[in-house]
Amino acid sequence: MIKKFVFVFFVGIFCVVAQNNTSYWQQQVDYTMKVDMNVENFQYEGTQELVYSNNSPDTLHQVFYHLHFNAFQPGSEMDVRSLNLPDPDPRVGNRVSKLTPEEIGYLKVSSLTQNGKPIMYKTEGTVLEVTLGKPILPGEKVTFSMNFNGQVPLQIRRSGRNNKEGIALSMTQWYPKIAEYDFEGWHADPYIAREFHGVWGNFDVTLTLDKNYIIGGTGTLQNPQEIGYGYESPGTTVKRKGKKLSWHFIAKNVHDFAWTADPDYLHDVVKVPNGPTLHFLYKNNKNIIDNWKDLQPKTVELINYFSEKIGKYPYEQYSVLQGGDGGMEYAMCTLITGERSFGSLVGVTAHEMAHSWFQHILATNESKHEWMDEGFTSYISTLAMNEVMKQNNPNSLRGLYNGYYQLAISGIEQPQTTQADRYSHNAAYGASAYSKGAVFLSQLGYVIGEDNLAKTIKRYFNEWKFKHPTPNDFKRVAEKVSGIQLDWYLTDWTQTTNTIDYGIKEVVDNNNTTKITIERIGLMPMPVDIYVEYNDSTIESFYVPLRQMRGEKENPIPSMKRTILPDWPWTHPTYSLEISKPKSEIKSIEIDITKTMADINPSNNAFSE
Ligand SMILES: [Zn+2]
Repeated sequence: MIKKFVFVFFVGIFCVVAQNNTSYWQQQVDYTMKVDMNVENFQYEGTQELVYSNNSPDTLHQVFYHLHFNAFQPGSEMDVRSLNLPDPDPRVGNRVSKLTPEEIGYLKVSSLTQNGKPIMYKTEGTVLEVTLGKPILPGEKVTFSMNFNGQVPLQIRRSGRNNKEGIALSMTQWYPKIAEYDFEGWHADPYIAREFHGVWGNFDVTLTLDKNYIIGGTGTLQNPQEIGYGYESPGTTVKRKGKKLSWHFIAKNVHDFAWTADPDYLHDVVKVPNGPTLHFLYKNNKNIIDNWKDLQPKTVELINYFSEKIGKYPYEQYSVLQGGDGGMEYAMCTLITGERSFGSLVGVTAHEMAHSWFQHILATNESKHEWMDEGFTSYISTLAMNEVMKQNNPNSLRGLYNGYYQLAISGIEQPQTTQADRYSHNAAYGASAYSKGAVFLSQLGYVIGEDNLAKTIKRYFNEWKFKHPTPNDFKRVAEKVSGIQLDWYLTDWTQTTNTIDYGIKEVVDNNNTTKITIERIGLMPMPVDIYVEYNDSTIESFYVPLRQMRGEKENPIPSMKRTILPDWPWTHPTYSLEISKPKSEIKSIEIDITKTMADINPSNNAFSE
């Protein structure tokens, strides 16, 4: 015991400032749930057996469950927050405040035991606070058994009944879901508007409901013959005995379980060669059927694109489900609204499917690191759309850069380390998480080179799949791949609102040479690529590494002559270089012609005669 203490003490000293350490561990859950849904009044009853493995080095005296559906009640944290935001999500607005008792959502726990013995619990909004009868020791496994009942809210946000396209049930965040406990402690965040975090584990879920309903969702159906699921052709009804049917799903190594159900669903199945089976469930509505058919081969291309660029999709199925109120990613499936133009339908599918990698498989805590989830997803799905839809846009990420530039000058920017629900404006959250998050990745390609960025993404997937990576974990992978130190990049970009602005200050003729002086105007330092074009139309580049990179990137344009100059220490506001040709031979000088460095003021980036 004493030896162990000494070891922990030393590790503690060296890791005190890190966001994560090398002794990674994560909790494990195994859910068995049986749920009976009444499709008349949208109320349901369930039992839940949860085997909880405490893989942490800590003794736990309490646990927490999320009860997300309680957010859909007048006076809830979600309701009051929406009423007080300057730019509330129009899907929420004041709608929660107007829900009647028959329309609200709720999740009520009616009994809870730990290894068979009743324990104390208390509901506080969207969180169930549980005081354990006996503490859970490190390495110990306990079983929590629960009875619960719920009511599906009118569709307001993400989950609900009778969405605007007529889908009966969009069942996301619908069950008592134990909160994650990790090296930072408990993540029992209230459900306010967005972002989820869950514990990795296995789900065995049996859903019993009206036999005329078709279900899609997380996991693999265990009793397809009994259901007729996957065998019926569109428009035909499978004869099912009795009033209700039970659908049995198993999902392994996921951190959530979502489903949808509707009596009018059409169901198409597409097998990806050497990949998963894709399921498409959408309304039998003649206005959307053609788009949903055309979406299917595009979805195959998309899953192949992501598998190639990030890592192989690891589950045996993926479902695109019409439901919800926009697009939202879940384990092995997405819920999207379906009455869209074809481009929009493919676009939303691309984005939500990319989340299978950057949210689901690489399960960052999206409440804390929303930019790793939305930003990385936006980056890869934008590139995927460019390819799959044959957009042939060499600057397909430009829109994301522009979103960031608008944020940077808006006056409402907050650092990306802001908790997802704690932004002063929804717009600031959106631009920070999606646009600035995507630029983080794209611009990293400018810092370490595009090849190293591609390698970093793949190695990040391999090292962190089925875990909860943090920003520092991603940074470490990029450092190991590139040999370039990146703490300055992660810190300035994600923990501050410092901006990048480099300019050409002066170009002076110096006998037969030219002296160029560059200045750093923005607070955030960067390496600088300078391109010089001569009167004979030849171009050469000069590369100024930032001193604390302690390394250099490869020549981004190998066909062009490049000179590596001495490092620029960030403390020095200006940097001068000398070119061995007279000023009269220079046609133009430009900083970063690739425009992947997010310089907020391009007007001072070029000089021309
Ligand atoms: Zn997203």
